[in-house]
Amino acid sequence: MRVRFWGVRGSTPAPGPKTARYGGNTPCVEIACGDETLIVDAGTGIRELGLDLTQRAAGRPVKGRLFIGHTHWDHIQGFPFFTPLYLPTTKFQIYGMHGTTKSFQEVMAGQMHSTYFPVQLKDLASKPEFIEINGPLQVGPVKVTYHFLNHPGITVGYRFEYEGKAVSYISDHEPYGGLNVKGEFSDKEDTSIAKFIAGSDLMICEAQYTADEYKIRRGWGHSTFADVLDLAQKAEVKRMALFHHDPQHDDAKLDARLVDSLALISSRRLTIQCFTAKEGQVVEL
Ligand SMILES: [Zn+2]
Ligand SMILES: [Zn+2]
Repeated sequence: MRVRFWGVRGSTPAPGPKTARYGGNTPCVEIACGDETLIVDAGTGIRELGLDLTQRAAGRPVKGRLFIGHTHWDHIQGFPFFTPLYLPTTKFQIYGMHGTTKSFQEVMAGQMHSTYFPVQLKDLASKPEFIEINGPLQVGPVKVTYHFLNHPGITVGYRFEYEGKAVSYISDHEPYGGLNVKGEFSDKEDTSIAKFIAGSDLMICEAQYTADEYKIRRGWGHSTFADVLDLAQKAEVKRMALFHHDPQHDDAKLDARLVDSLALISSRRLTIQCFTAKEGQVVEL
């Protein structure tokens, strides 16, 4: 498996000199499994990925599958700029959950309504196929499973398994034990997510807030590093990529947060490897 980060920023794009090293584009991760191109989320990072896929295809049809974790703006706003979809030869399947009041396809079409964008979803020349997920999937050689997360709206995390390796994508999520009083319900839900990601070779996880920031943003659907480490420890994951960086956290702040995170890992005598995901970074598993 080859994972490439095309967008790592949470909530809203944050371009500029202060974020140039880690990147300002919103979530988009490419997971290549042999010949299969899987993509998670269509934040603004997917624009560059689209150009790259077209170049790699060198005139042949662009093929792939896009998985949307949830349809908040930062996770879908690059979709209309994913240019392979404008080519009639492109073959793409797009997976996501049924919305609260609308189908997945209707939700995705919403941001391309003529009020907001000049081209409507139905006019995309490639006619992408929209698939609502309601169970585990086998995508060629890749097993894809999902788990509901604790975030406003309907949100899922994914787990991709291929040739004995597993990558989990858990963004955006607030631990139940953080939002609610600790007890049977929170324990059960948090344990269920830990079981879902158990043994992952790589867990891509948000750790958007510091402990102080969390105090005033409780209920916003995001985690602190300590929360994520609790989960990683319980699930015995091997490697964790910090992701969905807060737009207020510039490069210097992210460097400092990694130092604190590594100190917490070593204070617990854990061997989990941890890094802060950067735009353009490639991880081979
Ligand atoms: Zn987000
Ligand atoms: Zn969100």
